[in-house]
Amino acid sequence: MSAGVDRDISEEWALAADAADPLGGFRSEFCIPRENGREIAYFCGNSLGLQPRATRQAVIDELDYWAELAVEGHFRGRLPWMDYHEFVRDDLAMMVGAKPIEVVAMNSLSVNLHLLMVSFYRPSAGRAAILIEKSAFPSDRYAVEAQVRFHGYDPEDALIELEPDQADGTLSDAAILAAIEQHGSRLALVLLPGVQYLTGQALDLHAISKAAHASGCMVGFDLAHAVGNMELQLHDAGCDFAVWCSYKYLNSGPGAVAGAFVHERHATTTRPRFAGWWGHEKSTRFKMGPQFRPTPGADGWQLSNPPILALAPLRISLQVFQRAGFAAVRGKSRALTGYLEWLIAQRVSDVLAVVTPKQASRRGCQLSLRVKGPRESGRKLFEHLQGDGIVVDWREPDIIRAAPVPLYNRFADCRRLIESVVRWRDAQ
Ligand SMILES: *Cc1c(COP(=O)(O)O)cnc(C)c1O
Repeated sequence: MSAGVDRDISEEWALAADAADPLGGFRSEFCIPRENGREIAYFCGNSLGLQPRATRQAVIDELDYWAELAVEGHFRGRLPWMDYHEFVRDDLAMMVGAKPIEVVAMNSLSVNLHLLMVSFYRPSAGRAAILIEKSAFPSDRYAVEAQVRFHGYDPEDALIELEPDQADGTLSDAAILAAIEQHGSRLALVLLPGVQYLTGQALDLHAISKAAHASGCMVGFDLAHAVGNMELQLHDAGCDFAVWCSYKYLNSGPGAVAGAFVHERHATTTRPRFAGWWGHEKSTRFKMGPQFRPTPGADGWQLSNPPILALAPLRISLQVFQRAGFAAVRGKSRALTGYLEWLIAQRVSDVLAVVTPKQASRRGCQLSLRVKGPRESGRKLFEHLQGDGIVVDWREPDIIRAAPVPLYNRFADCRRLIESVVRWRDAQ
């Protein structure tokens, strides 16, 4: 199946590949939306992952504990709310390649980015700059600019933007490392994505962290499109912090509780932070003393007691990954995305150009597809796919993003997408 040498474009091949897929059974653990009685082909897990079937009951269970136990639910029930964020810790650590003390589920991504920049963006007159990519996700850009201004600096000179140096709009590793070296003495922070949201390109977190530290600055990553999608080894990569959201590949629902990583070397840091009672040492938190003493590790950045109804879906979703095993998930991801890319080359290379890098180590499951020809025709193709029960997304001016997600997408879904493009082209 994964070798791809014997693949052909027939429907029989796709169905046989699905039948032979060891992870094939996981699809039935997800709610697949239907349109006109038929399951849709869903390629938008990069934006909002599908709902695991077990999630509903897990949320209802917490509602029941609340109804039956009220305040006692903090201490009783199967999973007492007092410790609830700890019930996802080990699985989260596994997902990002971290030690349990380095991760915490809390807040939302943009909030976590601000909280960690409070501690790890400490500009000084000679070293005030942040290196980001020019096409950074808007929220990241707003956050970074706001932090620069908050410290009294001017984004005009304190924001250094990395421009794509490749013709296809991606960044070469060499260009990233050269920029860090070139601006290194002025940089307080390097903030880059794990997987770029527009192009689907995965960056080398290890090399970037090493280069940033060699230049004497901090380094953080936004893993919104990387977590649950790529194999991550954050502890070994050595970055200072990372943040991610959980509603994309982590399938934890709209606005799900996000995550943060703080490297073990900062576990007992005395850097400034915005403190709240849930970050206080657990053993003495309820002594309610006036002095803040942070819990060692990522937990020490928590502010509030966590939203239990929103954490339950994350707990369930991480268990699905745990049962599947991430190596198997990633193995299927490579095969599925490779198949989609191959079908495009075989069938519709006159319509679609793949922007995402070819090597499996430089991408996750998402392919960003540039629609050839004028913008209008790209938009029309997108609308045609929607009408055909195929959900992808559209990014101006000419990009269709399609993410075959290994836990619930099938080889037959990829084929259905491409055959629909063929029908559209042939009708032009
Ligand atoms: C999805 C995404 C976000 C979303 O931010 P929220 O705070 O969760 O709304 C931020 N950054 C990147 C790169 C993203 O892809």
